Amino acid sequence: MADHNEYGNERGNGRGNDVQVNQSVMVIGAGIAGMQSALLLAETGYRVVLLDQAPGIGGSMHLLDLTFPTDSCGLCLMLPGRAAYCPTIECDLHANIEILPYAEVVGVRGEPGDLTVTVRRKPRYVHVDRCTNCGRCAEVCPVERPDRYEGALKMGKAIYRPPTRAIPPAYVIDMDVCTRCGKCVAVCPTEAIDLEMAEETVEFPVGALLLSPGFEPFDARRKGEFGFGRYDNVVTSIQFDRMLSISGSTGATVLRPSDHTRPRRLAFIQCVGSRDETVGCGYCSSVCCMYTAKQVAVAKKLHPNLEITVFYMDIRAYGKDFDTYFDQVAALPGVTYRRAMVSAIHQYQQTRDLALQFVAEDGSLREEDFDMVVLAVGFVPPVGFRQLGQALDLPLNTYGFCVTDTFSPQESGSPGVLVGGAFREPKDIPETVVEASAAAAEAARLLGPVKRPLPGVDAHAVPPTGDLEAWPRVGVFLCDCRGEIGEAVDLEALAMYAGGLRDVV
Ligand SMILES: Cc1cc2nc3c(=O)[nH]c(=O)nc-3n(C[C@H](O)[C@H](O)[C@H](O)COP(=O)(O)OP(=O)(O)OC[C@H]3O[C@@H](n4cnc5c(N)ncnc54)[C@H](O)[C@@H]3O)c2cc1C
Ligand code: SF4
Ligand code: SF4
Repeated sequence: MADHNEYGNERGNGRGNDVQVNQSVMVIGAGIAGMQSALLLAETGYRVVLLDQAPGIGGSMHLLDLTFPTDSCGLCLMLPGRAAYCPTIECDLHANIEILPYAEVVGVRGEPGDLTVTVRRKPRYVHVDRCTNCGRCAEVCPVERPDRYEGALKMGKAIYRPPTRAIPPAYVIDMDVCTRCGKCVAVCPTEAIDLEMAEETVEFPVGALLLSPGFEPFDARRKGEFGFGRYDNVVTSIQFDRMLSISGSTGATVLRPSDHTRPRRLAFIQCVGSRDETVGCGYCSSVCCMYTAKQVAVAKKLHPNLEITVFYMDIRAYGKDFDTYFDQVAALPGVTYRRAMVSAIHQYQQTRDLALQFVAEDGSLREEDFDMVVLAVGFVPPVGFRQLGQALDLPLNTYGFCVTDTFSPQESGSPGVLVGGAFREPKDIPETVVEASAAAAEAARLLGPVKRPLPGVDAHAVPPTGDLEAWPRVGVFLCDCRGEIGEAVDLEALAMYAGGLRDVV
């Protein structure tokens, strides 16, 4: 057996490598995949630079409220090792993780173990350390445009707050629509806004790159026959997930966008932008069957009288316990799963109701009316990544997802570049977390055992503390988790009890 692995590191004896290796990793893309990899590496002792092009880290998961198969928010369960705290906040607090939101990689040079990454930091025009999230800027901003996350269902402003749970919790200005009127600057109580903020270019020396740029939802307008963007009551599954969320456009109520009334007949169309070569997406997005089942379950819980029909090609519920979950949803009263291909939707001009034309299982052409339709959109690769992929000499498949080794799916074809999450192919959160963990393990193998102390980190530094003379004030927060905890624990009694404890304020 050789003494060294293919990265030149000694096997097994923990003595580290002979070559000079930079023991930090840059994780590109800070969705649940990137956060999982970053936390595992940081816990092991490596330095991590966690970069995301978005103004806050967290990725798509921050747009979802409840996730299958538990129908819980689930974020708190994703932390490696123990179910304790939200990974987004853990990433923010971890001493070994440096978060770089609103940043893009513009160049990489060097060899595995010794790379230099050039990063462009986009100006957010708001100083993160001064913004208190008071929202006064958005109140006075005169520029209205569709919300970045909810689409046409909710209007947003040129200055906006990234999703509620994203980190850093600070506003950002979209200069593509901002008129530089200065009204926000005038009202900001902390002088956080700087309309002259400039972009920066910074270089980071790292040992390895870990790519987790995730996916983008298929643009439903490309399926013109379904009328998304033209018909008021046709929404995408992302918009519908937001509707089901307490922090979403309708605050956990299903409402027709046209008249804000509750629909009675709701249809879902699965595989929109999946298994469809006519739009260049011949692959299964693997998650839509299950997230549709989740959306049906949550919608029925919110509005038990809803009549729901799901149009599907076939059901691919292949994860642990997924079949059981699906069977329970399909058996709910008022829920019908219909195997049929929907060919077109037409809108009634007066009522804004929708007529669905479909080919039934017996081959006959049928039509049925609904009040609202949800398009279960598939996954496409992150478009902005193509350029970086080319710069890294990264093999991509015909659809644009990253090609990896069959037996070590965390390894890209480019040496020293590892991959995790939906960027490799569409996948759900549990699978994403598993793959991201494998990618972190591979990065650790590449970098060799951690040498202590880490360069730039003073292991003996005493963290700053507050005024030790002051009496401690303890805050207790009780989360109902939309009944998930509240149904099992008497939160009122617990609040009474906690309120009586010493130092609890
Ligand atoms: C409507 C809907 C509902 C869903 N519901 C569920 C569910 O209930 N349960 C479940 O298990 N799964 C669900 N999923 C799937 C889930 O969203 C994905 O499995 C998960 O988000 C994948 O995580 P990720 O980190 O790989 O990607 P993402 O969450 O997409 O994160 C990728 C991150 O990379 C960043 N990025 C992209 N390009 C770049 C770049 N060039 N440079 C820097 N950063 C970049 C992005 O800004 C983003 O923050 C659902 C998906 C959809 C569409
Ligand atoms: S007014 Fe200033 S402090 Fe308040 S949210 Fe806007 S930028 Fe932040
Ligand atoms: S400067 Fe831009 S962000 Fe600020 S209030 Fe005017 S339009 Fe809105």
